[in-house]
Amino acid sequence: MKTIVLLDDLTINQIAAGEVIEGPYSVVKELVENSIDAKATRVEVEVRNGGKTFIRVSDNGKGIDYDDIDIAFERHATSKIRSSQDLEKVLTMGFRGEALASISSVADVELTSKKENAMIGYTYSVRGNVAGKIQEKDCSQGTTIIVKDLFFNVPVRYKFLKNDNSELQKIKKILIREALANLDVSFKLINGGKTILKTSGNSKIKDAVYEIFGKDVASNLIEIDYTYKNLSVKGAIGNSRVEMPYRKNEIFFVNNRSIENDILSSGAEQAFKGALKIGKFPFVILNAQIQPNLIDMNIHPTKKEIKFQNEEDVFKLVYHAVKDGLLKEEFLGKDDTRNSEEIREKYVNKQESYLPEKYASKPKSNYLIDKIKNANNVTEENTLEIEAKLQKKEKLNYKFIGVVFKTFIIIEINNEIYFVDQHAAHERVLYEQVKDSYNSGKEPETQMLIIPTILPLKRSEVEMVMDNIEIFEKVGFQIEDFGNNTIKISGVPSIAYNLDSTTIFQDTLKELSSFSRTSKQEIENKFVATVACKAAVKAGMVLTFKEIDTLLQELFSLPNPYTCPHGRPTTIKYTQDELEKLKLK
Ligand code: ADP
Ligand code: MG
Repeated sequence: MKTIVLLDDLTINQIAAGEVIEGPYSVVKELVENSIDAKATRVEVEVRNGGKTFIRVSDNGKGIDYDDIDIAFERHATSKIRSSQDLEKVLTMGFRGEALASISSVADVELTSKKENAMIGYTYSVRGNVAGKIQEKDCSQGTTIIVKDLFFNVPVRYKFLKNDNSELQKIKKILIREALANLDVSFKLINGGKTILKTSGNSKIKDAVYEIFGKDVASNLIEIDYTYKNLSVKGAIGNSRVEMPYRKNEIFFVNNRSIENDILSSGAEQAFKGALKIGKFPFVILNAQIQPNLIDMNIHPTKKEIKFQNEEDVFKLVYHAVKDGLLKEEFLGKDDTRNSEEIREKYVNKQESYLPEKYASKPKSNYLIDKIKNANNVTEENTLEIEAKLQKKEKLNYKFIGVVFKTFIIIEINNEIYFVDQHAAHERVLYEQVKDSYNSGKEPETQMLIIPTILPLKRSEVEMVMDNIEIFEKVGFQIEDFGNNTIKISGVPSIAYNLDSTTIFQDTLKELSSFSRTSKQEIENKFVATVACKAAVKAGMVLTFKEIDTLLQELFSLPNPYTCPHGRPTTIKYTQDELEKLKLK
């Protein structure tokens, strides 16, 4: 018996609808994007019951020609591309020609449209792919699409819809994003007769933010307009007074399309590091313009995910754009439009008096220079904090004799001679730092990687990592199971920031497997020791005098500085008598 058959059109469209149309919000998104592609300047959305029973999208766009009305509902019918070559340069929101076919396969759809300058408009209905006749209709220019009884013929899907209010919130979220991406379009959302969102579409981002998020955010806004290499980004960010409890107001667009992407959000969050309290998130609306041939939009059915050809450049674009904005506001007040080059010219090296009060007493402070350097440097070190910590402790007085074998630092303290092993000493210092933060329960210090590392491992290794993920995270790694026996590393402990993240991760993993049968406490201690050991300066590395001094100060402020975490001595010391005796042997 023949068991393989070709599916009929309705079934094919319903399968496609399964991918594109998850619920009322997806219908709204597809229809609104069609309106935008049709160059509308006004889009009005009306819904009832969170869109489950009724959705109307009306626009004043260019309308649909009589000859195109029924074909617009065919699958893969589109006016926007002609061949696969066009995929490389699409800038319209739609191009798959799937939305109308999919929606009408699972709902009741009525389209009414009139072309610019046409005498008369037309109306046409399709319900579950059963089409009516095209009829003349007197209406104004543009297109109105009404969608009723969504999923009337797919009860399973209908059952999965949330309550009316949840569905409405999803629609609102979509419209907010459309409004922010299309500042020159006026949007209105009406629910059960009440207007719940309205933007003027006057092209000003500040006004849109005011209309959507309210006065508090709008009055603390920094506008962004930044170019890096051949990429550019526009938008706005909240200043450090705008702290969000969640990530949901980090909104990104690429070529006006709303996108969720780790590279973009970590670029922004890294740039905000230090400006916001730990655990708070920034307010960010950024729209990057990137040539379509440098991205792949076509990896997700509703196009909300994206792949960049050059992820590092995209990260830097966002990072520098945000840093630049924060820096400008910090030094010049929020309405200044001068760029950071000019700020550098004017203030760096010249104006001591421009320092914030708490640094003003520090003679010849490098604060400004550091700040601006940091703006161009992704690996930001909080040197001031470290300095402050050091100042609190008593300073160690010693006479510096020298360094031998690029490994042993020789100093004299109170008539004793010390040989300090630089690697063991640094290891000990880092061990204490990692252990302190490990046991404090505080957020670990993590350095986010510009480009997350995807590391292929053995299945057993992936399992070991996932079984011990808590330990990794507590020392500052940010990792996740990335599927197909790979691990994604997106952050490493701050103390290891300038090291090869793959090597340090693999080394710690190797250690972990060697002590996997001991108690949890012991595993934790050894793990912290391994991280410290891997991150410590090596024997044979040449240190500057300042580095040597910092190391010695830190080492000798520890309660027991004389052994490394593995129990090896960091230091050997002799009194004059002991040296004499050695000589006699
Ligand atoms: P796509 O947007 O991918 O081309 P759709 O199924 O969403 O596919 O729409 C099919 C076609 O119908 C579009 O290419 C466009 O020509 C036409 N169309 C749909 N909505 C509108 C609208 N609001 N105004 C003008 N034309 C529209
Ligand atoms: Mg479309």
